[in-house]
Amino acid sequence: MNRKEREGASHERVTDRQLQDQLNYYRERAPEYDDWWHRRGTFNHGDEVNRVWFAEISMVKDAFKSEHFEGDFLELAVGTGTWSCLFLEEARTLTVVDGSEEMLSHNPVVAEPNVRTIIADLFSWSPDQLYDSVAFTFWISHLPRERLRDFFTMVSRCLKTGGKIFFIDDREVSGTCESHVMGASGQTMVRKLNNGDHATIVKNFFGDKEIEKIAADVGIELHVHCTPTYFQYGLGSKTV
Ligand code: SAM
Repeated sequence: MNRKEREGASHERVTDRQLQDQLNYYRERAPEYDDWWHRRGTFNHGDEVNRVWFAEISMVKDAFKSEHFEGDFLELAVGTGTWSCLFLEEARTLTVVDGSEEMLSHNPVVAEPNVRTIIADLFSWSPDQLYDSVAFTFWISHLPRERLRDFFTMVSRCLKTGGKIFFIDDREVSGTCESHVMGASGQTMVRKLNNGDHATIVKNFFGDKEIEKIAADVGIELHVHCTPTYFQYGLGSKTV
């Protein structure tokens, strides 16, 4: 299905059952998840392509580091911790939230003394304290379009005034051109696991301006950028 057909079907709302299936998919994928990030196995596209991938990750990490995040740091949908170690370097405390114990069991930061781990469904979770910094990596593309505003409202409620926000996600090319992608329709995508099982997840590619506007509506000044090929990322702060 091409992009136009996907857009045509994108008005279909995502059901609670589909969100549960998505979480179950990550539970099953936990042992093989990091192959994607480290470009191993079927994600290894050869030295030259991999070099671009890692160079663009470095680009985003440098942009993050230049903003001097600090204090009490909250990371949402933390997974196996592809970004958690970097966040912990900057943080006084790090609170990590994810719905999957299986993903968290691969995350090295959960054993650290200044890390608080919360296993919760992010579609119903709400914060019990305010944070200086909030981040979510490769998460908003898994949000139903109709829930994006509610998510940013929750993020805004997590932040102190002046608190900082960071996110990174796939651009459409990196989100669709991988061997585990079996098809896409509307807001959903079918993914394959190494054992051959298929699962349907949510996958959306929100526009830079669309994200900035929703963030602004809930009091977050967010600037969204793209690396040349693979990633979309945003940096900003809560203004009210
Ligand atoms: N942040 C990590 C990264 O950058 O690699 C992981 C991103 S992974 C694409 C999505 C994560 O969201 C998984 O760890 C999964 O367990 C978690 N997740 C999925 N649905 C969830 C839900 N309803 N509540 C909380 N976490 C959820």
